Amino acid sequence: MRRSLPAAVLAGAACVALGVPSASATPPPAPAHLPAAVDDLADYEGATTCADVQPGTTALRDLLLATYGAQTIGTHRACPAGAVSSEHHDGRALDWMLDAGDPADAATAREFLDWLLADDARNARRLGVMYVIWDGQVWKSYRAAQGWQPYTGASPHTDHVHLSLSHRGGARETSWWTGRTDPVEGHWVALGAGDSSLGDPVGGPSRYAGARTRSYENGSILWSDRTQARGVSGAIAAAYFDDELVDVLGLPVTDELAVRGGRANHFETGSVYWSPSTGAYEVHGAIRAAWAGLGWETSALGFPTSDEHSRDGVRRSEFQGGVVTWTAAGGAQVRLH
Ligand SMILES: [Zn+2]
Repeated sequence: MRRSLPAAVLAGAACVALGVPSASATPPPAPAHLPAAVDDLADYEGATTCADVQPGTTALRDLLLATYGAQTIGTHRACPAGAVSSEHHDGRALDWMLDAGDPADAATAREFLDWLLADDARNARRLGVMYVIWDGQVWKSYRAAQGWQPYTGASPHTDHVHLSLSHRGGARETSWWTGRTDPVEGHWVALGAGDSSLGDPVGGPSRYAGARTRSYENGSILWSDRTQARGVSGAIAAAYFDDELVDVLGLPVTDELAVRGGRANHFETGSVYWSPSTGAYEVHGAIRAAWAGLGWETSALGFPTSDEHSRDGVRRSEFQGGVVTWTAAGGAQVRLH
């Protein structure tokens, strides 16, 4: 018999889901779509940005609640400016409030963690778990061969199980959720598979500019470990590939986004913006920074109407409402029509 969580544990938590703990003692049931293959162990991908709770974090919290009964699981902490230090800040971590000194709680934690790490960490791989801290010990997917190690951080984590997810796990793109171990295919499934704006695959996996990629009816997904899996489609994809913009822009860091009056994709070192009347053009570097500072496509400049190019030794990008030029001596200059 499992007894209820001590009231003191519930009272101390920030994010609370109250209810009657279930008597279930079985681990999470495997989804029907799981492939025989398992995902790679997650590399260390520390938090560098502030973001909302990621869908994979929410899904894992819901899985724990459904399996082990209503308990207290916090997922997010406000991100102090300039001080991103935890996956709680970019929405890839959760704190499952269990008391290591309580036999029932300790048994629940042990049961889950044994399930997570059995068979060469099969379920940790499937869920994209990057590390776990519990009761004075830490398990790291990127040091999986070491197993559990003493945890030397300030808090011994005797009042909660901390779980941090990889970017794929946070994005809910690992095989537990998508049935796909390949990061490109997992992203495609997460976007809606054949019902997404990309449509169905045309051809098999390939590589482009160092990224894993696959082509679909209306675009491509590109994956690298520094940019994760992102989609480009339609006229933006055509401009990116046909004009070999990867040389100036790098790989995509967003999927295609709706912007006012058009569409956009951001890349490592620039952006492509599209509208029905202008078509798709790239903007990068100091000219992009000046445009962004004015408000991107919502500024008086509007959408770009050319790629960046040189005229008389001056770099320039044309826009609907003007031109932005750049020289080493003068920096970026905005001139409205
Ligand atoms: Zn935590």
